[in-house]
Amino acid sequence: MKPYHLDAEILRQLEDRFREKICAVCIDRKTDGTCDHDKQGTCTLMQKIPEAVEAISLVDSPYMEPYIASLRKRVCQNCLLRGVNGDCGPRDTDRCMLDSYLPLVVEVIEDHFGGHGH
Ligand code: SF4
Ligand code: SF4
Repeated sequence: MKPYHLDAEILRQLEDRFREKICAVCIDRKTDGTCDHDKQGTCTLMQKIPEAVEAISLVDSPYMEPYIASLRKRVCQNCLLRGVNGDCGPRDTDRCMLDSYLPLVVEVIEDHFGGHGH
């Protein structure tokens, strides 16, 4: 399977869709609708969209496990928040939004690109 094509415009569209679908339910968003992580560039979801798109585009499965495995291999391996032995503090405390909301992330990305074969 080929990775989905991503450019600046598609990236902006995906950010908008994540804001609609994920930020709207995210526990880290403030009651006024703003988000400090977003402003400070510390949201692991918003910061890793290109890597997430690549990891997800290489999987086509009705199950989440292959998506999780692809994420660990293609995103977590290069993530500076990961510990030396492969553990991850943010993940263990539900502070990696990419990991916490992965089913929704997969849904948004696959829906946006129209599934596989594109
Ligand atoms: S932490 Fe990330 S996913 Fe959550 S509201 Fe902020 S920008 Fe959205
Ligand atoms: S789960 Fe941890 S290592 Fe993986 S992307 Fe999130 S913060 Fe980085």
